[in-house]
Amino acid sequence: MAKISINIKEGKVEKASNVIVGIDLGTTNSLVAYIHDGKATAVKGKDGKSTLVPSIVHFSNDGGILVGNNAKDKLINDPANTIYSVKRLMGKSYRDVENFEQYFGYKIIDEDSDSLVKVRVKDKFYTPIELSAEILKSLKHRIEKDLGQKVSRAVITVPAYFNDAQRQATRDAGKLAGLDVLRIVNEPTAASLAYGIGLNPEEVRTIAVYDLGGGTFDISILQIQNGIFEVLSTNGDTFLGGDDFDRAIIDFWAKENNIAPTLLQENKNLAQAIRLQAEEAKKTLSNQDEFSSTLENYNFHLTKSQFDTLIQPLVERTITSCKNALADAKIETNQIDHIVMVGGSTRVPLVQKSVSDFFGKALFNELNPDEVVALGAAIQADVLAGNQKDVLLLDVTPLSLGIETVGGLMDSIIPRNSKVPTKAGRQYTTSVDGQKNLKVAVFQGERDLVADNRKLGEFILKGIPPMPAGLPKIEIQFILNADGILKVKAKELRSDVETEIEIKSQYGLSEEEMAMMLLDSIENAEADMKVRGLLEARNEANNILLSSDKFLNQNAEILSTEEIEKTKTLVEALRTSVAGEDKDAINKAMDDLNTYTSPLAHRAMDVNIGNAIKGKGITNIEQGTRNEEV
Ligand code: AMP
Repeated sequence: MAKISINIKEGKVEKASNVIVGIDLGTTNSLVAYIHDGKATAVKGKDGKSTLVPSIVHFSNDGGILVGNNAKDKLINDPANTIYSVKRLMGKSYRDVENFEQYFGYKIIDEDSDSLVKVRVKDKFYTPIELSAEILKSLKHRIEKDLGQKVSRAVITVPAYFNDAQRQATRDAGKLAGLDVLRIVNEPTAASLAYGIGLNPEEVRTIAVYDLGGGTFDISILQIQNGIFEVLSTNGDTFLGGDDFDRAIIDFWAKENNIAPTLLQENKNLAQAIRLQAEEAKKTLSNQDEFSSTLENYNFHLTKSQFDTLIQPLVERTITSCKNALADAKIETNQIDHIVMVGGSTRVPLVQKSVSDFFGKALFNELNPDEVVALGAAIQADVLAGNQKDVLLLDVTPLSLGIETVGGLMDSIIPRNSKVPTKAGRQYTTSVDGQKNLKVAVFQGERDLVADNRKLGEFILKGIPPMPAGLPKIEIQFILNADGILKVKAKELRSDVETEIEIKSQYGLSEEEMAMMLLDSIENAEADMKVRGLLEARNEANNILLSSDKFLNQNAEILSTEEIEKTKTLVEALRTSVAGEDKDAINKAMDDLNTYTSPLAHRAMDVNIGNAIKGKGITNIEQGTRNEEV
């Protein structure tokens, strides 16, 4: 299996390089590294200079896709079709990100639902997984050019705080890009490995990893013991980074030059030019004491001590996060053995001094802070490839384990390569009013449809008390012991009704069968993604159709004839699209219906609440609240 790669576009099986690459899939920048002559090395682009690929994807009018610096150039002229910061959307529902919507220059679909977000570009809809896959494809292409060989296996890093859904989404993105993702590694773990911390199985160390990038700040406290990294705590700020330093400089210069904020809002080109100057000043002040430049009629000047004063409160916020992380880990500063610095903004001298003063120790910051995570991922990859014999390899599950959900989709609960023993759980609910039984079918494999995976067993959770659809809370737990014995438990939490099964076979598959299943999953990733997208869109649309009918029935008095007719027309359009095979058409019809009915639903809710306050009965409030779902 290791020596075969699939060229999805050309449908060819090719000889692949044995190299396993390490990939840092970042919010602002991404990069790929591998072990070259025994040393972790980040791969440069065509220009032979930068190892960083901006994590930006642009969709042009002729259907072309640009990634990286070429896409970055489009941020100003074509923001609606230029997608950045997609990592912030991975594994998230619209509800998770709605408060930050103004932060994104492109359209995130507002379905006011708990389904996963999609990004609308022209009349197409993209999942964050598909968008991340474009970035990964570009990195894969970059290293293949460098090596002159196909690459099919990778280790990808994620923040330590990423949950199951976000990790699974990252895995899926890798698969869609034609990569077999051997392991998802925490970024702070990778950064520590880059400095060689953790490679000696005997050492016991406590490490603080301080990661200040362009837009995010993370502090992680790790403990390494017997070659196993454990995350003791994480803290941080998802909207704090070097961009804020730039903004502080811009505000300072705007005041000094009497530039009104409205001018910067109106003149986007001027605003962008000043932003670039501000970043330039910041970088210069990492090595020099003064920066000066002119732009049009403006003079921009900044000294290091002025800059330090401007960013002091921001740096102080990161130190507060460090204190919180230590408190959560129940660790004192003097118990920290090493401090590892990650992210471009840790080049700022005030940042280095503040962190070093706080922990009372020298920092690990000799490696390029932009590359350190990818370099560590490459080292982890090398360990997995068996090239570092002394390093302990954890026992892992060879294939993902999960259950069947609505529409025949596979929902992975324990991802492949999880170390055993392990335990993971997720909550589900019913899809029909009064549903008393729930079938739990357990599958093994990497494909999106259970029909393509291997069934391990099934059981029925009986005796769920009758409740409206969506109300029962059914927790499904997978417990996998060190011998590969899987126990699956299902429990309805409101009533405590519970059932479990044990699946004894040791995965039940030969090495070859397993290899075939993995190859299959990579070969079919694109087709699977399409089917999954269509089924998910249909499931969502069916829910919206049900609540739309309810909404129209319950609020006929509040709505005008014209509003009822228009809503019905949009509902019919959605019904028609659901019968078809085009997921983008379904998403568009949902989007149209939602855009039109959102204000109506809000009005209905106001009227219903008003009536309730006047004493017309509490039931109206319930209807009103539920109607908001339309
Ligand atoms: P990252 O997200 O880790 O790629 O970090 C990118 C951030 O690091 C951006 O805000 C950059 O402006 C910042 N950065 C890069 N080089 C320097 C430097 N020499 N001094 C200060 N900040 C820098």
